Amino acid sequence: MFEKVLIANRGEIALRINRACKEMGISTVAIHSTADAESMHVRLADESVCVGPPPAGQSYLNIPQIIAACEITGAEAIHPGYGFLSENARFAEIVREHGITFIGPTPEHIRLMGDKIAAKQAVKELGIPTVPGSDGGVTSDTEAARIAEEIGYPVLIKAAAGGGGRGMKVAQKPSDLSLALATARSEAKAAFGDDAVYMEKYLQLPRHIEVQVLADSHGKVLHLGERDCSLQRRHQKVWEEAGSPALNAAQREEIGGVVTRALNKLGYLGAGTIEFLFEDGRFYFIEMNTRLQVEHPVTEAITGIDIVREQIRVASGSPLELDQKDIVFEGHAIECRINAENAFTFTPSPGTITQFHAPGGLGVRFDSHMYTGYRIPPYYDSLAGKLIVHGKNRNECLMRLRRALDELVVGGIETTIPLFQKLVREQDILNGDYNIHWLEQWLAKKSA
Ligand code: ADP
Repeated sequence: MFEKVLIANRGEIALRINRACKEMGISTVAIHSTADAESMHVRLADESVCVGPPPAGQSYLNIPQIIAACEITGAEAIHPGYGFLSENARFAEIVREHGITFIGPTPEHIRLMGDKIAAKQAVKELGIPTVPGSDGGVTSDTEAARIAEEIGYPVLIKAAAGGGGRGMKVAQKPSDLSLALATARSEAKAAFGDDAVYMEKYLQLPRHIEVQVLADSHGKVLHLGERDCSLQRRHQKVWEEAGSPALNAAQREEIGGVVTRALNKLGYLGAGTIEFLFEDGRFYFIEMNTRLQVEHPVTEAITGIDIVREQIRVASGSPLELDQKDIVFEGHAIECRINAENAFTFTPSPGTITQFHAPGGLGVRFDSHMYTGYRIPPYYDSLAGKLIVHGKNRNECLMRLRRALDELVVGGIETTIPLFQKLVREQDILNGDYNIHWLEQWLAKKSA
């Protein structure tokens, strides 16, 4: 096992990784930008290294500085968290070339899944069902028109290098297609430096359901069930549940089996998430994330498995101790992303937290780097905390979420707490009856 791990991230996820390390007796090195010198992740780590000025490109994405921080402190492994360098295959390679362990999959698998065209092709060959669409990239209007006719409108043009819900354009009818293709390409080029795009059938009322996996270097792959992340705004998750209100045990077992067999064939290592759209009882692969996800705690709540601990263990070469039959799903869990932004317009609201009180009690977890007097800097994403609630069943979970949200106090900045206080009282949400468009439609009705 490692003695010292460097955490190449900030905010709540750096704290989360620090906690797992502490419980494993591993000492920790935090990195930070000058804007984060006072941050909780720096205070709680054993050592810290300033890696640059506020802009992420010069600090949290500054590969030479991060490698140097490892060498100076003698850290043997790097946990990248999510975002920043977590899905950067070149970074994982450089880490490996320096004799440091990257806590995550191999650079080859990161690269494969980072190219969404190649990823889709690869998982299809491994027996995972995909969304009907182009077999590879789409370059010309005539090719796009031919494929769209085949799969039927509406269609979605997606960036091969896409992420964070960006670089997608819908064409409702043939006359929209040429413009959708051109805009998708130029947006993809601007956002990701790569204008490769592909095409999928645009599903009308799907849910977003993803399967969490864990794999060791001894050929064992386990699935930890699914999460339902259908409540989204601009293709970004807002609220996540485990399990999905739309799946039964047989469907869970079936998709879990399909995924674990596929990743076994691939020889995957570490934690990963296979994302699907789910419509009319069928699963359609959309992408694989080769890292820890923001919403991993809901899975931890219902399985009792510390996913970060397992990531560190398998990266060090230890085998997974559990077998699939040992993984039991208990109760229901929901996570709300508490962002520093207006609850209904989503305008960012950085600033100083003047008052802070975290909710507690049975089944309540609050992962956050906030404290009274902490100044949320304007340079990074707006996630300020995650409220995770676990109950014996979905009803208990929803009632607990209601009271936990009412206990949570964050003063001085705007947050998304009022949004969740409303959502947790909406009949469709109480019924578990929603799809990927529900939230946007609800927000549009509210502002009308
Ligand atoms: P990203 O990598 O940007 O997160 P994804 O491929 O994971 O992109 O898709 C993000 C979200 O976009 C999905 O959760 C879903 O809401 C929507 N989406 C993606 N593909 C489709 C599709 N074929 N039909 C309908 N919605 C889609």
